[in-house]
Amino acid sequence: MSSQEAASGEKRMSEKRFERKFRAGVLGATGMVGQRLVQLLSEHPWFELTEVAASERSEGKTYAEATRWHGEAPIPEVARELVVKGLEPARECDFVFSALDSSVAGTAEEEFARAGYPVVSNSRNHRMDADVPLLIPEVNAAHLDVIPTQQKNRGYSSGFIVTNPNCSTAGLVLVLKPLAEAFGLEKIFVVTMQAVSGAGYPGVASLDILGNVVPFINGEEEKMEAEPQKLLGKWDGVRLVPAGLGISAHCNRVPVQDGHLECVSLSLKKIASLKEVREALREFTVDLELAQLPTALKNPVVVMEDESRPQPKRDVNAGHGMAAVVGRVRECPLLDVKLTLLSHNLLRGAAGAALLNAELLAARGYLQSRVASGESEVAEPVER
Ligand code: NAP
Repeated sequence: MSSQEAASGEKRMSEKRFERKFRAGVLGATGMVGQRLVQLLSEHPWFELTEVAASERSEGKTYAEATRWHGEAPIPEVARELVVKGLEPARECDFVFSALDSSVAGTAEEEFARAGYPVVSNSRNHRMDADVPLLIPEVNAAHLDVIPTQQKNRGYSSGFIVTNPNCSTAGLVLVLKPLAEAFGLEKIFVVTMQAVSGAGYPGVASLDILGNVVPFINGEEEKMEAEPQKLLGKWDGVRLVPAGLGISAHCNRVPVQDGHLECVSLSLKKIASLKEVREALREFTVDLELAQLPTALKNPVVVMEDESRPQPKRDVNAGHGMAAVVGRVRECPLLDVKLTLLSHNLLRGAAGAALLNAELLAARGYLQSRVASGESEVAEPVER
């Protein structure tokens, strides 16, 4: 794929449809990730935004009044006049996305799940729980099979929690997956250059980051070293077995608005040429089930030939912000192969990731339309 094609985005795949749209609530709707979710939901073919919730600072205001909007397009009409609610789990919706600050996400998500709502979370709190799927549909869709165990363990009826990974892990693991499949992986050494939008709003103070690099992001290296083990691990029918990889991560904050760049060195179990590595990445194609999800890309990894790419400014929106863009695939004198990758932290790393997870849940029948009586009925998928 040329740089131009990558920048303009990959063509979306065909879509599957439901009798009626599922009603979605967004917890933390006023934040950086929440705003992206609101934007994406406003034009979604399967989901409609019906509820927004945030902190006491925002509660009772309209969404337009409560939100310091960062989108380039105006606030979607469907959201402007919605009244922002608090976190009590009684909602006019069928499921919720959580983009809550981690100080409150853990408990709030459990309360919504206990009240019967599927919770599709961005937050770190439940990612590593043994009975909660940490999901990238292109990587480990089979891990959704742990949901009944979670419901049994926790006494949830129709509710459950599904999470997406940390924003820098998301791009990394999407690139590691085809390599793990083709050659097997042993060790991964990664150095990140992470955008300021990854820290939420107002995030890092301008005087700390302008003309500067901050070589520390609290908790980030630990997440990058732990989450890939779960994502690339196996569901054996009883438990999620970790991948057992050697991973070392260095995480840095850089003065870039959106897009996390990562320099990766890795060792493979099988000897492979650079050509074979590039081919494995380029040919990584999703299966038919995923190809029918509205947010899925047929080929979620884009490989660029230009030695000066990928760059956040030029490539962050590749594949509508859902691609991982790889460049500079070359030999590593310490391990086997090294490469540079880029992914959009707010889309592939957060809002887009959660949306794709919700689409897979819908396609597999995990979402239900909650009818007025409080009972639930299943909305069957209908092929277009
Ligand atoms: P953010 O901009 O700081 O937004 C936080 C949201 O949480 C706001 O809607 C805020 O509401 C709400 N909130 C804060 N304290 C609350 C409380 N006590 N009760 C109820 N709501 C409260 O953060 P963000 O960057 O969007 O991140 C949201 C979550 O996604 C975090 O858990 C983060 O770790 C995770 N995440 C972020 C990224 C990224 O790239 N930014 C990527 C992956 C995952 P108010 O506006 O009313 O304060």
